[in-house]
Amino acid sequence: MTHEHYVSHLESAIDGTRFEPGQVYTLHKDRPLWVKYDLERVAGALSKDTLADRDPTMWRYRELSPLGTETCEVTLGEGMTPLLDCPELGRKIGLEQLWIKDESQLPTGSFKSRGMAMAVTMAKKFGIECLALPTAGNAGGAAAAYAARAGLKCVVFMPKDTPIVNQLEAKWYGAEVYLIDGLINDCGRLVKEGQSKFDWFDLSTLKEPYRIEGKKTMGLELAEQLDWRLPDSIFYPTGGGTGLIGMWKAFQELNGMGWLDSDVFPKMISVQSTGCCPIARAYEQEERFAKPFENAQTLASGLRVPVAVGDFMILDAVRESGGAAVAYDENGLRYWQREAMVSEGIALCPEAAACVGAAQKMVETGQLDPNERVVIFNTGAVQKYVEAMEIGLPDFESWEQVEADLNG
Ligand SMILES: *Cc1c(COP(=O)(O)O)cnc(C)c1O
Repeated sequence: MTHEHYVSHLESAIDGTRFEPGQVYTLHKDRPLWVKYDLERVAGALSKDTLADRDPTMWRYRELSPLGTETCEVTLGEGMTPLLDCPELGRKIGLEQLWIKDESQLPTGSFKSRGMAMAVTMAKKFGIECLALPTAGNAGGAAAAYAARAGLKCVVFMPKDTPIVNQLEAKWYGAEVYLIDGLINDCGRLVKEGQSKFDWFDLSTLKEPYRIEGKKTMGLELAEQLDWRLPDSIFYPTGGGTGLIGMWKAFQELNGMGWLDSDVFPKMISVQSTGCCPIARAYEQEERFAKPFENAQTLASGLRVPVAVGDFMILDAVRESGGAAVAYDENGLRYWQREAMVSEGIALCPEAAACVGAAQKMVETGQLDPNERVVIFNTGAVQKYVEAMEIGLPDFESWEQVEADLNG
């Protein structure tokens, strides 16, 4: 059986240089590549009705993926994730229509599985045998899991103060894991250095073009779940930025296919913590490229990315959308995490808590209209952050104590 592919070419995000599809690529001039599709052909091959009958996984949008109709995916059954309405949390932050898209329910407990499922699938297809990557947390576990699923080797470098669950899961999935006295960019340097010795493939964020194609399915799914009427604002916790860039790409592609109800796109709100906010700082200073953030420290480990190769892609998307890049107070993360968990029962990660806090602040200061349809992405599961969750529990002493607690 022959397979249909819909990729027209790859294209440098920095200077527009075009590349033929069907090959392994990394960066061009140290900057990422876009995967471009022939959207007319996709629209001819795929209808909304066909889509409705497919399995509820990220692979349902396969015509808008580098696989086309080829079925060789390395999968653990990822997606679709629920879009949960949050009336109680909405009340607390002053929003009438708030949803959380709960990516914590994906394999390995974070949305990193979307990107890794796609990137590892492509790596395997191209005959690559060994993968290596730097990680600030969840990417390492996800890469290790998909590498195991695909029968590939995986080498992970992570800061030695990465959450312990991230360290352990990567190792338990069979990766070689090394702890570094430094940050994710230091780990990235080691991955590059090791490449000449071990000929491994660099799976770093945006250093190969396919993780973004996996992560963009968040945007495709969101559009489908909202019946092709996009929300007014999307709050996205930004580290390397693949998710935000990918969703913005997804919306343009759907628009190019004529699938969206309106050509008003959501405002993309990129959220970081004051503990590490190079993108928010560049946005404020009206720069297109971000300066490295010194002494990055945040319990939202997914946001601890002091240097991002896709900085200009994040900032372009934010500006084109009429959104903003903001930093939320590091000291407020635990508070909003717990508010969201208590109000809605969602396993909210500290990264998403930054988004909840930022939304609250923007409502309070009049930058966000209380009637807007707002979606916050919960990119990971709270269970990954056991150190940060540390909370005192009382010993049972008496029923009087229980009664007082229930009435308190
Ligand atoms: C990686 C990560 C992020 C940042 O995602 P990017 O798409 O790289 O910006 C946010 N939250 C969590 C939980 C993460 O693991």
